[in-house]
Amino acid sequence: MNYKIVRLNTSFRTSKTSSVLIIYTGGTLGMAYDDSGALVPFNFGQILEKIPILYNMNIAITVISFPEPIDSSNVSMSHWRDMAYIINENYDSYDGFVVLHGTDTMAYSASMLSYMLQGLNKPVIFTGAQLPISAMRSDARENLMTALEIATAKINGSPIVPEVCIFFNHMLLRGNRAKKVQSVHFDAFESENYPPLAESGIVIDYHTAVIRPLESQKKLINRSKLDNNVMVLKLFPGITDKIMDACFAISGLKGVVLETYGSGNSPSEKWFMGSLERAIKKGIILLNVSQCNGGRVIQGRYETSRELLNVGVISGADMTTEAAITKLMFLLGQEKSLEDVRRKLMVPLAGEMTA
Ligand code: ASP
Repeated sequence: MNYKIVRLNTSFRTSKTSSVLIIYTGGTLGMAYDDSGALVPFNFGQILEKIPILYNMNIAITVISFPEPIDSSNVSMSHWRDMAYIINENYDSYDGFVVLHGTDTMAYSASMLSYMLQGLNKPVIFTGAQLPISAMRSDARENLMTALEIATAKINGSPIVPEVCIFFNHMLLRGNRAKKVQSVHFDAFESENYPPLAESGIVIDYHTAVIRPLESQKKLINRSKLDNNVMVLKLFPGITDKIMDACFAISGLKGVVLETYGSGNSPSEKWFMGSLERAIKKGIILLNVSQCNGGRVIQGRYETSRELLNVGVISGADMTTEAAITKLMFLLGQEKSLEDVRRKLMVPLAGEMTA
């Protein structure tokens, strides 16, 4: 991969106590207004000018910037592979990693990285901002400074948060449990089905009981084979079998995240179940997640979901759509048989669901 490395001459002290690698992918944090008034990403050198205090931190900071910083709406599998590759290549040299990323797809990227980076034992903290760093009231400075602190936080010499997280607006959330819920206010992310891993105020209060424990015997493995022959199908009253059959007829389609109602309910009519059954017979995997931000799919709780269980739809339990679609892409890329994909969809890979 072709990327730029910048080593910051931070801190006036001679020996830095810790080190962080920042991966700058783009996003509003580093955007500026172009001539037409639209926000476009700019390079990291300009960001540093906006936060001179970074130079005074007692952290050795290195920055790797994507050659072309992106609006995260353009993120793709190759960007995920680049992020995972950079972390894997530099894993032993840093205490932690901060990924600067647009908020729009941050929950997808954090979910995917949580699956790809197996055996992770160091913090990988995604953050970004709702306002560019150059804006007077920007949230970028606070988000970045606290993310750096979390990425280097240790207890008895071990990282406090050895997992992929999103830090945003005072909250540290497990990456594969988070969801973007706000495009205007600063509290952009929520994790309805899992408690925050930490909250920052005067001090950073770590909720260690819900943080994944260190598994120091495990080595990091970067699993980069992914398969995007997948889609999300959101149910709505009025959906027809014509629409559903057309989706399931897409050539090469291997898996569908079905966004159902409430606790995993769907129409129970014959035409609907018939369409799902035909798809499953063709070998398409159907994974059921709820349109609700909180709660979980319980297939069989209502009559309207019992049939889903009977035809072979897999319950996504309390997974977010973001965690579910990336898990499907990951498992379809990794596993040899559809049976293995189906089996592993039902168990947590990186704390993304409550078993
Ligand atoms: N469109 C931007 C992005 O996701 C929004 C943001 O950064 O908050 O890259």
